[in-house]
Amino acid sequence: MKIAICPGSFDPITQGHLDIIRRTAKMFDKVIVVVMVNYHKKTSTFTAQERKNMIERCTQGMTNVVVDTYVGLLAEYAKKHNAIAVVKGLRAVSDFEDEFQQALTNRKLNPDMETIFVTAEAEYMFLSSSVVKQVCEFGGSIAEFVPSEIHDDIVKRIQANKKF
Ligand code: ADP
Repeated sequence: MKIAICPGSFDPITQGHLDIIRRTAKMFDKVIVVVMVNYHKKTSTFTAQERKNMIERCTQGMTNVVVDTYVGLLAEYAKKHNAIAVVKGLRAVSDFEDEFQQALTNRKLNPDMETIFVTAEAEYMFLSSSVVKQVCEFGGSIAEFVPSEIHDDIVKRIQANKKF
């Protein structure tokens, strides 16, 4: 069985993330979407468990997709779960340098794991979790940016966190 991992912060999951997950699910027998808990990153809007739960609700129809949370090295996670590839979405040139560095590091740590880059859909090229949060904070519509299943929960949380 060919297993792939789609890692990320997913704070929250967007249509851009979901598109990459959907396309990965077509190429592999099983996809593990891993919510990476990174203590060095600035505080998140949603807890890891909330992010996992939101991804589960959006991927319900995808029978070969499971969701997990993880603190640690992705290369180790892949070994433990027999995953042969990490699939990442590339939006623009600006994503490239950091992703390339991560891919080479992971290759050193786990030579059996490939990193595969999938180009973002043109319509989601601009989309990131931070864009969603910024637009929502200032009252703009995020209906086209996030899956409908989780839209209301996101708006509720962002509005509740507003500092002005
Ligand atoms: P973000 O950069 O939005 O915080 P993550 O760290 O959760 O996203 O990203 C997880 C993966 O999803 C990364 O490989 C990232 O490049 C990819 N990704 C994020 N947004 C998009 C998008 N709009 N289209 C394609 N891939 C995306």
